[in-house]
Amino acid sequence: MRRPIIAGNWKMNKTNREARELAKSIIQKMATSSPLPEVVLCPPFTALETVKGVINGQRIELGAQNAFWENEGAYTGEISPNMLLTVGCRYVILGHSERRKYFSENDQTVNRKIKAVVSVGLSPILCVGERLEEREKGRTEALVDQQLRGALKGLSREEIENLVVAYEPIWAIGTGKTATPEQAAEVHGFIRNLISQLYDEKTSEELRIIYGGSVKPENARDLFSQPQIDGGLVGGASLQADSFWQIINSYPMGD
Ligand code: PEP
Repeated sequence: MRRPIIAGNWKMNKTNREARELAKSIIQKMATSSPLPEVVLCPPFTALETVKGVINGQRIELGAQNAFWENEGAYTGEISPNMLLTVGCRYVILGHSERRKYFSENDQTVNRKIKAVVSVGLSPILCVGERLEEREKGRTEALVDQQLRGALKGLSREEIENLVVAYEPIWAIGTGKTATPEQAAEVHGFIRNLISQLYDEKTSEELRIIYGGSVKPENARDLFSQPQIDGGLVGGASLQADSFWQIINSYPMGD
């Protein structure tokens, strides 16, 4: 059984004070004994320690939005996997389409980052997904295939044990457009199949594949009702406790 996971990507939002308030409000909403998906908060680097202080001992994990591929050295402006580990992170988002678009990240750099992150015991949340033109040309699977093969090159089965893959069609990120549950499930099935070819059946069955792209309280239940969708990576709707909680609570836990 794969444990569902809902991660909030706060992007470049929230000062420390705002981050503390948001984390506290999410905890208040989560004060229920019912089973919930795993919940991960990914604030900006500056707020990691603050948020960790608030969520300590709660049913919430901490994640970062990026990491560099070396653990220390003369890399001005970068943050290392080891630094993230020592502030209490468990997850790191890698290869987000905004990083690929604005910071020239590519499958090779994402591959180096995944290797560095898993070597210190952090779990990568690897983002893949196509642009609208690629979908319209019927190139979605080819593109996702290329991104996954590139990002996972040289990684062993053991190294990807705690990997989470986020399928995030770029045309759905921050646009209000969402992939239909069927469109998302189709690509999730493709990803699982590819992992089974690249590794083995067991690894592919255990891999958590989550969907990202304008997940909102109004569409979360339909998306999460697809057996191939193991949760969500949520941007805009994770910036408010109410909407994020409604999304968490939409996951059909044993319904
Ligand atoms: C994201 O940042 O990964 C994302 C999916 O954003 P949004 O939910 O705002 O589309």
